[in-house]
Amino acid sequence: MIEKQLRDIITRRYHKKAEECSREELYYSLLELTKEITKERGYNEGERKLYYISAEFLIGKLLSNNLINLGLFEEVEEVLVKFGKTIEEVEAAEPEPSLGNGGLGRLAACFLDSIATLSLPGDGIGLNYHYGLFRQIFEKHKQKELINPWIEPESWLNQTDIHFDIPFKNFTLKSRLYDIDVTGYESKNNKLHLFDVETVDEKLVEEGIHFDKSQVEKNLTLFLYPDDSDKEGNLLRIYQQYFMVSNGAQLILKECKEKGYDLHKLDQHVVIQINDTHPTLVIPELIRLLMLKGIRMDEAIGIVSRTCAYTNHTILSEALEKWPFEYLDEVVPHLMPIICELDTRVKEEYADQKVQIIDGERRVHMAHIDIHYGFSVNGVAALHTEILEQSELKHFYDIYPEKFNNKTNGITFRRWLLEANHPLADYIASLIGNGFKKDEEELEQLLQYRDVSQVKERLLAIKKENKLALKRYLAETENIEIDENSIFDIQIKRLHEYKRQQMNALYVIHKYLEIKKGRVPSTPVTLIFGAKAAPAYETAKDIIHLILCLQELIQDDPQVRRHMNLVMVQNYNVTKATKLIPACDISEQISLASKEASGTSNMKFMLNGAVTLGTMDGANVEIHDLVGDENIYIFGVGSKEVIEHYAKEDYVSKDYYEKDPEIKEAVDFITGPELMKIGDPENLNRLQKELIGKDWFMTLLDLKDYIRTKDRMIKDYEDREGWSEKMLVNIAKAGYFSSDRTIEQYNEDIWRLK
Ligand SMILES: *Cc1c(COP(=O)(O)O)cnc(C)c1O
Repeated sequence: MIEKQLRDIITRRYHKKAEECSREELYYSLLELTKEITKERGYNEGERKLYYISAEFLIGKLLSNNLINLGLFEEVEEVLVKFGKTIEEVEAAEPEPSLGNGGLGRLAACFLDSIATLSLPGDGIGLNYHYGLFRQIFEKHKQKELINPWIEPESWLNQTDIHFDIPFKNFTLKSRLYDIDVTGYESKNNKLHLFDVETVDEKLVEEGIHFDKSQVEKNLTLFLYPDDSDKEGNLLRIYQQYFMVSNGAQLILKECKEKGYDLHKLDQHVVIQINDTHPTLVIPELIRLLMLKGIRMDEAIGIVSRTCAYTNHTILSEALEKWPFEYLDEVVPHLMPIICELDTRVKEEYADQKVQIIDGERRVHMAHIDIHYGFSVNGVAALHTEILEQSELKHFYDIYPEKFNNKTNGITFRRWLLEANHPLADYIASLIGNGFKKDEEELEQLLQYRDVSQVKERLLAIKKENKLALKRYLAETENIEIDENSIFDIQIKRLHEYKRQQMNALYVIHKYLEIKKGRVPSTPVTLIFGAKAAPAYETAKDIIHLILCLQELIQDDPQVRRHMNLVMVQNYNVTKATKLIPACDISEQISLASKEASGTSNMKFMLNGAVTLGTMDGANVEIHDLVGDENIYIFGVGSKEVIEHYAKEDYVSKDYYEKDPEIKEAVDFITGPELMKIGDPENLNRLQKELIGKDWFMTLLDLKDYIRTKDRMIKDYEDREGWSEKMLVNIAKAGYFSSDRTIEQYNEDIWRLK
């Protein structure tokens, strides 16, 4: 069936035999066929619909994902073999959409998959960035940012004829809507709506990712998170945010009109989930649009407040957006009377400065708009929500305890197990059947095999197979050699001081010095990093520089390399994540306790049989609860103690540096002759100064415990059967972290979709 359809498409498109096609030709033919079959399934509908608005959707490549969800993966795989290609080869021709940055964007993508899979009517709304997040390469041991073009004449994007006028202070922009079909697993589809500007001009970009920030009509949908270190950058972000939400709000009202809904009852038919603060302006914008339809302000505020719900993703105060009043006034003056009214109503009710929308310095707090004028505020892991309620947002929790709720993040198993790890998924299915693919808690049935040696041996064999596959992939794509017989210790996530890649780097230095002294690890270790740093984040770039210098130092030292290797992959993204995660033994989740709201790579690794080395932070706490002390390695100070250190301002990194010779030796090495010969003294000196003089995220506080715990882990790895049991328990307990569970909870407590 598929074979005939595919052959017909190939003949029409290329006038040749499938066996003679290039991987690109096969890819475009499959793209066309998959889109066609998807359309035929139809779309989820209902009386009440969700709109998930997000600045990011880190959806990854879609070919395998969609084929799995359509139930066609195996058949296509077989057909391609007949044509002389593998599905991996064909999918290599697909560019990865550059529509997201990290965990928040990937969460949005996993949610879209689960919403469709659960047959709920719910669409995503975002922007169609042409270059999105930059592409990272390494040059002279430093990150270099390049444009990341991904939109091709033919792609998953479907151009529509839907346009809206988006009014700004001095001009109006005309938008165009592009849609991507979101396939559910064995169900119908939803849509991801991506808005673009008709006048956008890719030629505006000069070298690297530099461009004229003032030409908004040409640049608005070029980049995700343009540099905001100057006023123009701030204004551009506000332009983007308003463009996204005004389009979103107009689309929502258009769909309501088509269905004949009464706008006075909008909140019965629509729920809007605001993913972090970036889409906050949807609140005043929707109020404005309802008022234009003749609804009085008072009623409009009530309707919108019953329609919008807000997800908080961070307690880092620098990430909670506060726009200067004048900036907003320069971009969207027509929203200011509404924002002022929202502020006035709060000021009339509450004297507390901490809950005001417009503060004493005339800054507009976006999260405060969301909390006052939304009906739900959720955190993304149990600990995170507790910290919001008890400290970060305590003043709001005291006013609105009923609005606060927790929704621990999740991941879609279709992407992170079925697609990423075929050997493991097939083996699990052979043991417990296929039920776990839609009812993930069924993975618990694996526990009955905890004492079966054969099963544990097979898990180790699959891990080895995946390590070999990664070895081949890295050799081919990055020209890097790794040893499949070593322990794979992986830290892949955005580069940020709170995630503490620098602590892992200090471990590498410590181990390097140990090996030089003849104290070698019982099993060789390969440390793998993957991380992009925000282009304007100096310390993050210094940390990348340190890691790349260490990589060269070790690569050129055969004596050390035999026992410890270090590689940093370029341009970490979803595609690389799906290759790296199945091969991992040790999952690095080492953020400073209280700072990682949830984390989701911790869940992906666990599901693929890696053992977590982590702090009691984010969802690590819940992983620990589920697997127990025996099956996770926890270290470091807890969140209470950390929060106390911040309150008392009593953490002095220099004390740790001076008192402990091992710490001092490792930190001093950053500017020692070995690394200064390889790297840039300016970066290395600056990083060392930062660690000794500030160390805001308390690296040195946890370093000793981290080293001891990782060394214990490496020792425990030698007991292969014992280790495999840990792997099995982690896989068996991962069901809780399915985004299907998360979405069921959102729907139960917040959305109530019908
Ligand atoms: C899952 C994922 C993330 C989030 O990783 P954390 O370690 O939870 O921060 C970031 N980027 C990509 C590509 C991912 O797949």
